[in-house]
Amino acid sequence: MFLPPHCPYTVCRSFAEPDPGFFVRAGRYQPHCRPHQVPRFRCRSCGRRFSRQSFRADWRQKKPYLNATLLRLIVSCVGQRQAARALGVARRTVERRVRWLAAHASAFQEEGLRHAVLAGPFQLDEMESFEANRYQPVTVPVLIDRKSLFIVATAVGPMRRKGRMTSRQKRRRAEHEAVHGRRRAGSVRAVRRVLDRLVPLTEDQPVVLESDHKPLYGQLGMGMFGSRFAWRTHSASARRDRGNPLFPINHTNARLRHFLARLRRRTWCVSKSRAALEGHLHIAALWANWCRGITNRTQITPAQALGLATRPYRAEELLAWKLLWPTPTPSPWSSGIFP
Ligand SMILES: [Zn+2]
Repeated sequence: MFLPPHCPYTVCRSFAEPDPGFFVRAGRYQPHCRPHQVPRFRCRSCGRRFSRQSFRADWRQKKPYLNATLLRLIVSCVGQRQAARALGVARRTVERRVRWLAAHASAFQEEGLRHAVLAGPFQLDEMESFEANRYQPVTVPVLIDRKSLFIVATAVGPMRRKGRMTSRQKRRRAEHEAVHGRRRAGSVRAVRRVLDRLVPLTEDQPVVLESDHKPLYGQLGMGMFGSRFAWRTHSASARRDRGNPLFPINHTNARLRHFLARLRRRTWCVSKSRAALEGHLHIAALWANWCRGITNRTQITPAQALGLATRPYRAEELLAWKLLWPTPTPSPWSSGIFP
């Protein structure tokens, strides 16, 4: 049974400090988009009416039933066009809804980690992909908690195409740069954004970071965390099996490549923009952290392993409630509306 945790109107006294009996029930209505009736309420403080929909994340959506299935599809290596065909909706609808999912996933992770303190150790590595074509590569730093495989942060930054190229490829890169300009190197900024996420999550505790030998990680870590930073490096060229100390991050990145059609090695799906890739990674992190077991056998989610959740959440639950209300917030999370 749904009980409103506070008045949804931010100017009302019962928004920030609701009394237990701040509302009275005021009937129900039948929405077009749902089979069940939705309860309505009246606030005793401001006299305004509202319904359960005021607290739903899918508020104002015409097809809210698409959300959970779409989430499952796009983390199951299905491209957006194919997801649109499978759901029987327009590609545009899927594009818009994926953007909504990405914003919600990012808010969910922020809300779920709001009071968390993570002990680490952490592991960091960069994947490579590209946006639109091979002359616009991107770097994708991924930061995880090593023991739980919880994906703490991801980011996407531009890179210039490097490495071995045929003379034809070099000529085409020059043509591309003549039109679009030389591509900015965004690795430093992207890695810093990922490590920045650790600042509120580690408070004044030691930060142990494991990675390959790339000097950037050590420099940034020392600059950001000072004496509480410890950097442990391991060879990137060692065999990538379970015995490799970097197995957790290598495995996480391999899973991300497996989940997201656009990150597969040989595929017709590509990221059209790095912003879309970044959003898709937020969705993958939401699903991998809170919904899916660490392994198929354990069924315990990374969020459970960290003590952030008491059980795996269904996709429908993850997407149910509106998050990030303006402060001061009795957010759905802290006010007990979320299980
Ligand atoms: Zn009110």
